[in-house]
Amino acid sequence: MSTPMLNISQLTMRFGGIYALNDVSFSVQEGRTTSVIGPNGAGKTTLFNCITGMYRPTSGQVQFRGQDITAAPAHRIARHGIARTFQNLALFGGLSVMENLMAGAYLQGRSGLLQGALMSPAARAERRKAEAAAHQTLAFLGLEDVAQALPSELSYGRQKQVEFARALMQKAQLVLLDEPMAGMSKTEKAMMSELIQRVQREFGMTFLIVEHDIPVVMSLSDHIVVLDFGSKIADGLPADVRQNSAVISAYLGTEAHH
Ligand code: ATP
Repeated sequence: MSTPMLNISQLTMRFGGIYALNDVSFSVQEGRTTSVIGPNGAGKTTLFNCITGMYRPTSGQVQFRGQDITAAPAHRIARHGIARTFQNLALFGGLSVMENLMAGAYLQGRSGLLQGALMSPAARAERRKAEAAAHQTLAFLGLEDVAQALPSELSYGRQKQVEFARALMQKAQLVLLDEPMAGMSKTEKAMMSELIQRVQREFGMTFLIVEHDIPVVMSLSDHIVVLDFGSKIADGLPADVRQNSAVISAYLGTEAHH
């Protein structure tokens, strides 16, 4: 198999006496969708926080395209081409959908928001480019009709789609989605699932997803990693993971979680 896009090696994150992650290793292949599942408190969000530079792991390594990015600051990791969405929505409430997407583009562009506001010729050109890219992204996701709306005017499912769109605007190579279907209706979940698959197919995007809805995870993923109390208990194809007895007893067999 080719060099993985993301390689997690012996990652441990301790909070006092709690091992939120305990010696976790796995890799993410380019162009594939990898999902991380596990009961509440298994360490999934901690894993995302370690990958995106929000936490400094106690030990272990995170490599992106062979380069060590462990504990690099979050903005550097974003510049490497790793974008993420959050478990709870993190859209700018005072900005329209279009402006939220453009804020995503500024993370990627050279001149910052300040230059954008002062509008040098270079910043103006960049703004035009960002606008065009935002229109394209909204069109691709079927969100053009809400371009001028405020996030609060949209359904929860639509807001999650806008957050997804903003992550795509960062021209990331790897997109981390933290519970992209949480709080969604069945129809909204199906739409989101279809969007993720379309982006993967048409742009060869690589996704790392944390999601609790097991049927959705099974149909969406090429590869599944299972965490339980901070440790990896399984790692493989959806069909293999589904039959793994440790996974069944820790997670799949019980309905008590979420
Ligand atoms: P959920 O499915 O509920 O989102 P999770 O799998 O994302 O859970 P984490 O949020 O990563 O789990 O938490 C793993 C463990 O680490 C938990 O025991 C949690 O209490 C602990 N933990 C996470 N972040 C911190 C922190 N900043 N300080 C102390 N303990 C933490």
